[in-house]
Amino acid sequence: IVPMRLQKFLARAGAASRRGSENLMTAGRVRVNGEVVRELGSKVDPLRDRVTVDGVEFRIADGPTYLMLNKPAGYVTTMSDPQGRPCVADLVPCGRYPGLFAVGRLDRDTTGLLLFTTDGEAAHQLLHPSHHVSKHYVALVEGRPTAAQLDRLRHGIRLRDGMAQPAEAEVIGPGDALFGAVAPEGARGDVSVVGIRIQEGRKHQVKRMLGAIGHKVLRLHRDEFGPLRLTGVAEGRWRLLTDGEVAAIR
Ligand code: URA
Repeated sequence: IVPMRLQKFLARAGAASRRGSENLMTAGRVRVNGEVVRELGSKVDPLRDRVTVDGVEFRIADGPTYLMLNKPAGYVTTMSDPQGRPCVADLVPCGRYPGLFAVGRLDRDTTGLLLFTTDGEAAHQLLHPSHHVSKHYVALVEGRPTAAQLDRLRHGIRLRDGMAQPAEAEVIGPGDALFGAVAPEGARGDVSVVGIRIQEGRKHQVKRMLGAIGHKVLRLHRDEFGPLRLTGVAEGRWRLLTDGEVAAIR
């Protein structure tokens, strides 16, 4: 391993610019293996030394990065929002992993599994319609869909931009099964929870499909994306994928 200058390491790892990294060092905010390092000529072993800024560890990714976010409601799926609304980039470590982007999108009010990567090739594979990557959603809807209504989703329902492919759909339970006992503001009468699996990804697709059978979506949550399941990550938090998960999506 070739040792590298600490300020270069920090800049590559996304801590700050080269100049900003020098400032972090001289300010005593940078530690290598627990020791404060202010000396601008210092070198580090990028793979073995533990480098922290204000106690937060920085690493140079030694390959593409893959992580899952458990997206809360109220965040737009974009890496920067011109209107200044909260966006998912606020929740993931963009500085540490330069080039990180979201694979696909969830509506602002949709929660759940959103994959991020720096690997453009893998993202392309996952998003390409010909690869039929399945996505599973749990929806809180007004009323309770009948078997006949669900059959319409299973056969492929007409949307204004064309037929939706057949989808798996089932009523999972009453409104309190996954979304808490209280129906949100504006819900009239009974609510229920529907599980739906689709392989497409058109705009507002799940909301439009359930709307087309007469059941307005009140809340929408994604718990599976391809082989990935939303596990081990609290709402608003992210985690790196395991080696097994990475192998499954590449
Ligand atoms: N379908 C929707 O309607 N919204 C989402 O966010 C995802 C799928």
